[in-house]
Amino acid sequence: MSRDKNYQRLLNSPRWREVKTQVWRRANGLCERCIREGKAAGVPDGYITPGVDCHHIKPVESGRTVMEMEQLCYNPANIELLCIPCHIKTHQEMFSHTREKVKENKQRARQRFMEMNDPHYQPPSDSKPTD
Ligand SMILES: [Zn+2]
Ligand SMILES: [Zn+2]
Repeated sequence: MSRDKNYQRLLNSPRWREVKTQVWRRANGLCERCIREGKAAGVPDGYITPGVDCHHIKPVESGRTVMEMEQLCYNPANIELLCIPCHIKTHQEMFSHTREKVKENKQRARQRFMEMNDPHYQPPSDSKPTD
């Protein structure tokens, strides 16, 4: 059984519905990121954004076993209630984060390679990251 299938199964269970209700109550039905960023009521041009999506802070798919996935999926501390724009933003940030990491690792490997092959190699002081 693939991880994806396991994930689907986790989200189709009555337990997930319970966890979602629990998270929704904790957040009073509001987007927790909007609140964190001060976009909640009471702030001068603030407003209340209802939360609609449950976002897993640490992706459920990152669990190595079904049990680990279950723990990530059903742990309210790993879940944030978000509005759709915040959910999209959060995933874009996660994606650019991993992309940055990949780029960083590649650059480090390139640097090491050059240093190894040329003992006089000096990285140019005004070097800009290129890709
Ligand atoms: Zn939001
Ligand atoms: Zn999400």
